[in-house]
Amino acid sequence: MPRRPDTRRQTKPWRALYDSPRWQSLRRNHLAAHPLCDACLAQAHTTPATVVHHKVRHNGDAALFFRGPFESLCKSCHDRLGAEDDSRGYRRGMTGPDGFPIDERHPFNSGAPMVRRNKSRNRG
Ligand SMILES: [Zn+2]
Repeated sequence: MPRRPDTRRQTKPWRALYDSPRWQSLRRNHLAAHPLCDACLAQAHTTPATVVHHKVRHNGDAALFFRGPFESLCKSCHDRLGAEDDSRGYRRGMTGPDGFPIDERHPFNSGAPMVRRNKSRNRG
């Protein structure tokens, strides 16, 4: 079974991308164009966004980092959704206009069958 490297504890040299003037201006422009938290808006709340979140995990890929797609989030949604994303690997509850999950990591979008694994508890 392939092991996923634990990136959380590793040093992330691409963190410097966040300090780059290019990102600073991109972030400012995105927040100016999308000043409200997208996740709060989905719940019919209007909360000023303070975080520009990468909807696609960039893992230091500068092209992805600057291309996006992005979403505006408030700090509390960013922390909450980030934690959810990390534990589950995808985000629940965000659907597009067609009613389907917009997170491309969602099992619905991966083409993988959605099978819940049961431990052999219920087998007689
Ligand atoms: Zn929010």
